[in-house]
Amino acid sequence: MTEFKNKVAIVTGSGSGIGRACAVLFAKKGAKVVISDVDEKGGKESVDLIKKDGGEATFIKADVSKPEDCEALVKKTVEAYGRLDVGVNNAGIGGEANLTGDYSLDGWHKVININLNGVFYSMKYEITEMLKHGGGSIVNIASILGQVGFATASAYVAAKHGVVGLSQNAALEYSAQGIRVNSVGPGFIRTPLLKDMEEDKDTMDMLISLHPIGRLGQAEEVAELVVWLASDKASFVTGAYYPVDGGYLAR
Ligand code: NAP
Repeated sequence: MTEFKNKVAIVTGSGSGIGRACAVLFAKKGAKVVISDVDEKGGKESVDLIKKDGGEATFIKADVSKPEDCEALVKKTVEAYGRLDVGVNNAGIGGEANLTGDYSLDGWHKVININLNGVFYSMKYEITEMLKHGGGSIVNIASILGQVGFATASAYVAAKHGVVGLSQNAALEYSAQGIRVNSVGPGFIRTPLLKDMEEDKDTMDMLISLHPIGRLGQAEEVAELVVWLASDKASFVTGAYYPVDGGYLAR
């Protein structure tokens, strides 16, 4: 498919889960994809998957909680592929599970640094590059927990609400200059992020019961929405938050 022919996409956290599924789909649709992650092994596996399928991808290691890594990621992308059209800011962690009063300061800062500051740093350098050649599209991976709370997840919930607001704000600032910015809110999706929860059947049954569709989601189901938002088919969509959550937020 050629929908993204001659387009270049960065997907952070694409050595696993939702990010990998997005990267694979972008490549299937013709994009040159920069796989970025702290996990070098997972990142290289994603590149191999894409190349085996005839697509184009390269791995650039970056820790999104470090602004210098986010700046270098964009610079190296342009060195490799000449431009940047799409930024999917997806890297994230679940973090500590604790009540707010018991939440450790280190745990709080870790989640905020990766899940919120990391999205800001990534956007900052992506936007600067996109402005040089007339625009682009940014999709930030928030969560259903960017709209509602979830007991014991205060840092995650605060970070994801922040990602939704930050995305709206950047859309106000840059849409007229050709950069669309949207956020996506997955429900609970079966990825390695849930590995601790998956060991406990009762927890999994409880999570499933929160989704009216009767199951958790698959990474590929999130990727379909992300890639559509990034594409020209979504040319009038900006500043929006789209859930992909099996009905979680409709309860
Ligand atoms: P995942 O399978 O764990 O993938 C996340 C990837 O990001 C991992 O490869 C991880 O590496 C990497 N990463 C972690 N910290 C990083 C950093 N500082 N810089 C760069 N990469 C980093 O998780 P996922 O479920 O696909 O999650 C992707 C995004 O979707 C996250 O933002 C998450 O909050 C969001 N989300 C997930 C769900 C869900 O239920 N799965 C629901 C809503 C939203 P390591 O494995 O080495 O940490």
